[in-house]
Amino acid sequence: FAARTPLIAGNWKMNLDHLQAIALVQKLAWALKDARHDYADGEVAVFPPFTDLRSVQTLLTADKLPLALGAQDLSPHDAGAYTGDISAAMLAKLDVRYALVGHSERRHGHGESDETVGAKALAAHRGGMIPMICVGETAADLEEHGAAAVPLAQLAAALAPLPKGAEYVIAYEPVWAIGSGQAATADQAEEVARALREALRDLRDDAEAAATRILYGGSVTSQNIAGFLKQPNVDGALVGGASLKADEFSRIVQFKK
Ligand code: PEP
Repeated sequence: FAARTPLIAGNWKMNLDHLQAIALVQKLAWALKDARHDYADGEVAVFPPFTDLRSVQTLLTADKLPLALGAQDLSPHDAGAYTGDISAAMLAKLDVRYALVGHSERRHGHGESDETVGAKALAAHRGGMIPMICVGETAADLEEHGAAAVPLAQLAAALAPLPKGAEYVIAYEPVWAIGSGQAATADQAEEVARALREALRDLRDDAEAAATRILYGGSVTSQNIAGFLKQPNVDGALVGGASLKADEFSRIVQFKK
């Protein structure tokens, strides 16, 4: 396992057609061009809608831009009669490096079970991508079970099918913090990130626990990013709304620790 390279990921959700996607990536590239930011040793990724991936890939390749590509979802199946689904192989062919699995908008909006999330994580791994496994508690879960219980259970289920040695990223996203403007505090994020890393020791092993990147997501902005990234167990951020504006996302990427 390599050291934990920090990662800032932008989830565009169902926003921006392919022309708007090209415009955003061009603006982002311009904003970051000469930046001597503290993030020179980190990684930045964007997760456009499926229909934008080819255009963004072409632009990233042509201009040699240092952005990784991610997909917002994928099929748990490799190929066949699955109308409307997109396979890991199709995504990997477009240089997609990461695949989100288990985002709360898929778990809650599309009824995805822990089992489906695990099957999708495995499909991403099989296809040569790195699954970004999203876990997080709702406001009701928080009240009933505390912050960590549901994310820990979701993590155990998602990892169960993944073979030892498979690389993956965890995104801790409290559901109550997503798109609400009400981010968790840096201490709250650290507490759950630490619990998730501790759990990895038992679920996997010490080396994997030490090497796995754990991101925080939920109403991250340029104002609060530094607080999260100061935490010892938080290795990056998954950014939704604020990743749609080139100037704001570039400020987030260039945060000062
Ligand atoms: C997300 O969609 O993963 C997310 C964290 O959204 P937002 O930053 O808008 O809360």
